[in-house]
Amino acid sequence: DTVRRPLMAGNWKMNLNHLEAIALVQKLAFSLNEKQLTEVETVVLPPFTDLRSVQTLIDGDKLLIGYGAQDLSPYASGAYTGEISGPMLARLGCQYVVVGHSERRAYHHEDDATVNAKVAAALAHGLAPILCVGEGLEVREAAGHVAHCSDQLDAALKGLTAEQVEKVVIAYEPVWAIGTGKTATPEDAQEVCGAVRERVAERFGKETGERTRVLYGGSVKSSNIAGIMAKPDVDGALIGGASLDADEFAKIVRFPE
Ligand code: PEP
Repeated sequence: DTVRRPLMAGNWKMNLNHLEAIALVQKLAFSLNEKQLTEVETVVLPPFTDLRSVQTLIDGDKLLIGYGAQDLSPYASGAYTGEISGPMLARLGCQYVVVGHSERRAYHHEDDATVNAKVAAALAHGLAPILCVGEGLEVREAAGHVAHCSDQLDAALKGLTAEQVEKVVIAYEPVWAIGTGKTATPEDAQEVCGAVRERVAERFGKETGERTRVLYGGSVKSSNIAGIMAKPDVDGALIGGASLDADEFAKIVRFPE
């Protein structure tokens, strides 16, 4: 039987400077004990400018907290002004990188081909992509959500091997539930997370489907996390707003209690 370790990943978006970042990670570290941090993998995803400070704190105190970035360039180096590459993030000790967040797709016009190239770049440099898929309100109202997410998934995983896909964390984030306070019901989350796992199994084999972690994201809080985590195909959450409050994020990590 495959055991998928629960993962709670805090996407800070464009919030907190490096001093605030240090304060938040310190608070998290003393709000959570070793058992809690071992049971539930806990990860922060700060802005690029915070990563060095977060690395220094986590390494120095051997904290059981992981970290990663919110985006990366599809290229390893070169004339791409303003971009940050996979090798740079890997060298800073990042384990994860978010790819294809709906805000990047909407505001930076990232299409499926770009998302696919970024997933491949992350894997090539030893980073685990947290690949976001999710439908907008119109698609949901027309009942096209499963097909939409499945298509985004197919495009993003194009050309990968089963071994690579197992390293990808897939996050189902319905766009209508991000930052809106409108959480999908646990049943809504299960429907798409289950369909995502089935699609991975169809394309990359049953074992890969069983091993791949699928998260839910969209207005997750300490008050709704337990219901979402009770669903069989939800292996964790990608948390925006609520991850900026150390007490609240720690409560989410302690959901089994
Ligand atoms: C997100 O942006 O990944 C997210 C889930 O945001 P929020 O929790 O604030 O809805």
